[in-house]
Amino acid sequence: MDYDVIIVGGGPAGASAAIAAGRAGLSALVLEKAGRGRDKFCAGGVSYATRSRLAEMGAKEVEEAFEAEIDGYIVALPDGRALVGSLGSRVGATVRRSVFDAKLAEVAEALGAEVRWGSRAVAAEARGGSVEVRTADGQLLRGRYLIVATGAGDPLPERLGFPSWRRTDLGHCWGSEVPYDGSGLLARWRERYGVSPVLLLFGFMRYGYFWAFPKRAHLNLGVGTSLLESARGAHRRIFADCLSAAERAGLLEGVAARVDRSWLVPLRPRGWSPRNPRGVTWSAEKRALLVGDAAGLWVYYHHAYLLPEMFIAVVPGVVVGATLGAKVALRVKASIVKYAVMGVMLVSGIQLIIRGISSLI
Ligand SMILES: Cc1cc2nc3c(=O)[nH]c(=O)nc-3n(C[C@H](O)[C@H](O)[C@H](O)COP(=O)(O)OP(=O)(O)OC[C@H]3O[C@@H](n4cnc5c(N)ncnc54)[C@H](O)[C@@H]3O)c2cc1C
Repeated sequence: MDYDVIIVGGGPAGASAAIAAGRAGLSALVLEKAGRGRDKFCAGGVSYATRSRLAEMGAKEVEEAFEAEIDGYIVALPDGRALVGSLGSRVGATVRRSVFDAKLAEVAEALGAEVRWGSRAVAAEARGGSVEVRTADGQLLRGRYLIVATGAGDPLPERLGFPSWRRTDLGHCWGSEVPYDGSGLLARWRERYGVSPVLLLFGFMRYGYFWAFPKRAHLNLGVGTSLLESARGAHRRIFADCLSAAERAGLLEGVAARVDRSWLVPLRPRGWSPRNPRGVTWSAEKRALLVGDAAGLWVYYHHAYLLPEMFIAVVPGVVVGATLGAKVALRVKASIVKYAVMGVMLVSGIQLIIRGISSLI
């Protein structure tokens, strides 16, 4: 056997699984198709909950990647009205994903995980008591278990036989991350509102919102909605409308940005069913678990400071690593069932919070 666990994907879910596996004394291999320092389109909000979880899992040094501390939010409407809120002592942060993800992977490496950058897994199959993973450059690797942390867009889960997304299961985000004096903007907002916030604009589309997340020397701007909604088009118009509304309201100034990137996200926009969009996210026969976005645990209406997605990517990784560590010598089914139960508890808890929040709005 080459490794106790092979993890496909080196984003927050994969790296945190590798960290937890390393702490549990397991040999872990992470296959990441991109190079070290790869970027991902993401507002980059790290909530207080994620921050605490990162510290608990022994990855506090990733705070070196924090660009700005965030302790509030501005929610603005098309008519210019704005609600300003404070997060009190539950201070979060913003990060640039190229830096944050690289730092998480560094922690995993320090704990003994092997990270292979530029290595894409194209197929995987359980054989007897192990899983064989084939890479695009023809290598065949063997592990006891497989963790699939490929994000929302890779076909590996389907190739393994997991259900594919339906169009209604996916959301779509578009926008940009532009050079900008984010620290200066936060200082101005702090002077005006008494908090260092992120900005959210609601009411410009049926589902979804526009955001502006300041980093130290960048500003991340984007719009997120359901895939069905975005298929109606008008991306660029909605983005431009939101940006000019923010400028009219005096919330932003001098932002030269246009849509230059987009990304799919798993989501369940209607019904708030606790059922995961994938339906099935683990398999004892395949000796495989899906985590993070690949498992569809991204939650719509997050917001990062209430329902952080990277938290959802990080926590299952930790649970998986810890559970595999405890159970590695035992039957895989037991560990997978335990993981599933914990995952359901996590998701159900989040569903309850969402219901609570939506009844307040
Ligand atoms: C526009 C946008 C804004 C967001 N804003 C926030 C926010 O403010 N706060 C927050 O907490 N979350 C936010 N999210 C969500 C957050 O980005 C994701 O939940 C998080 O990145 C999920 O982590 P992950 O590790 O599951 O997947 P990813 O970060 O997508 O990582 C998957 C990795 O797997 C690699 N990979 C894929 N397939 C293969 C393969 N076959 N072989 C090898 N490697 C492979 C990819 O290269 C990638 O590095 C946002 C998402 C979007 C799209």
